[in-house]
Amino acid sequence: MNQFTPYLPAIEKALRKLDAWRSQFGAQNDITELTEIESILDKLEERLEGNYPFHHPSYAGQMLKPPHPIAWLAYMLTATINPNNHALDGGPPTSEMEKEAVKELANMVGYGDTYLGHLTSGGTIANLEALFVSREIHPGKAIAATSNAHYTHRRMCRVLNTDFLEIPVDNFGNPDFEFIKTHADEIGTIVVTMGTTGLGTTEPLSKILEYSKTHGIRVHADAAYGGFFTLIKESLPKTEDWPCLYQADSIVIDPHKHGLQPYGCGSVLYKDPSVGKFYKHDSPYTYFTSDDLHLGEISLECSRAGASAAAFWATLQLLPLSSSGLGSILFKARSAALIFTDLLKKSSTFDLYQEPDLDIVGYFKIPEQKSTSEINKLSREVFNHGMNTNNPSEGFHLSLYKIPVSQFTARFHDYQAETDHVVLLRSVFMKEEHEEFVKTLVERIGI
Ligand SMILES: *Cc1c(COP(=O)(O)O)cnc(C)c1O
Repeated sequence: MNQFTPYLPAIEKALRKLDAWRSQFGAQNDITELTEIESILDKLEERLEGNYPFHHPSYAGQMLKPPHPIAWLAYMLTATINPNNHALDGGPPTSEMEKEAVKELANMVGYGDTYLGHLTSGGTIANLEALFVSREIHPGKAIAATSNAHYTHRRMCRVLNTDFLEIPVDNFGNPDFEFIKTHADEIGTIVVTMGTTGLGTTEPLSKILEYSKTHGIRVHADAAYGGFFTLIKESLPKTEDWPCLYQADSIVIDPHKHGLQPYGCGSVLYKDPSVGKFYKHDSPYTYFTSDDLHLGEISLECSRAGASAAAFWATLQLLPLSSSGLGSILFKARSAALIFTDLLKKSSTFDLYQEPDLDIVGYFKIPEQKSTSEINKLSREVFNHGMNTNNPSEGFHLSLYKIPVSQFTARFHDYQAETDHVVLLRSVFMKEEHEEFVKTLVERIGI
């Protein structure tokens, strides 16, 4: 999925038809000189080459990859109109597409036909909305999340003027249930991360749900990164957690992470549609063309790109939310992580930090002297070496991830703990091409 020019005839055909529709309404504006456009695009293109090769499987650094060509084409075509999904009349067709796409998401997580949900500009805003609803339901109570949760939860609690409680985790990432029990009366909502941004760890959703239900605590699943993995839940570890995703009161999933979308596409889903009442507003600017609770009425944001909805909808036409549709890509990502893990275990120069729950692997280079400061030095060396290799057929990109030293020494007893943190190497295998490429990547890194 890294060539776009083969699809140009398709976009040209669609654009011509859309231009014909536009021209029915009267004369076109004067057209900007093509040469001028070309010269600006030329300059832009040159600057874009300053990016890392995000499209290529030698890049396994951060959580990013290009959109699927269908998403890009649909976005581009729709953006020539620029509909706004803030209200049904801001973009009737794209609002319909948003509803259809969200219905598929709700179906994927097992919410069935009664739910409320919409797309957002990203995961942070989607989580903010879910936490806002949590606060409205449990005013004066805290929102709790583990130290592995996304950093924006704490920040958004400040925005919401709500207490944030950090649930400690043990050295293996397990939330401290004693802490939850001690603070049960203060907690209104627990955020459970299904795929942490660090190492893609999934937290014990089923256990937390079980406890929360009997204590009147809401559960919000932050599945911004991991949500689509529910499509291949049978092939994942921690088999008890994914099947109860539907029991969470709210869920956030980012189509712009594992859903092949350009940025600007998150989503929030609520199990109980009556939470729509918390959003209700009477904007003097949005007039109503339908009796439906329109999308602008159930979103904290006003303007939202209709193009994002069109892109996601179009992608779902090609890759439905099933194990053989979008799931097939998640499956390859997971498979790449497993092959990589296996090769790390066999390596005498590198070691695996922990078994991955999804497609993100943490590892380190084994130093001659077994100390954490030596690991940190080697991690930076490996990282820089990959980044600074200019030959595209030799370079590689990974990221660094810091963990508290106690988490490291709990797994590796024979290391001298000389530092507060251990800097791990981290590879994110989000692309389907990673499955094929992972062995080459291992050679390049020198594992
Ligand atoms: C990426 C991520 C977020 C934030 O989402 P954005 O789309 O980057 O705003 C929140 N939670 C988790 C678990 C994430 O991985």
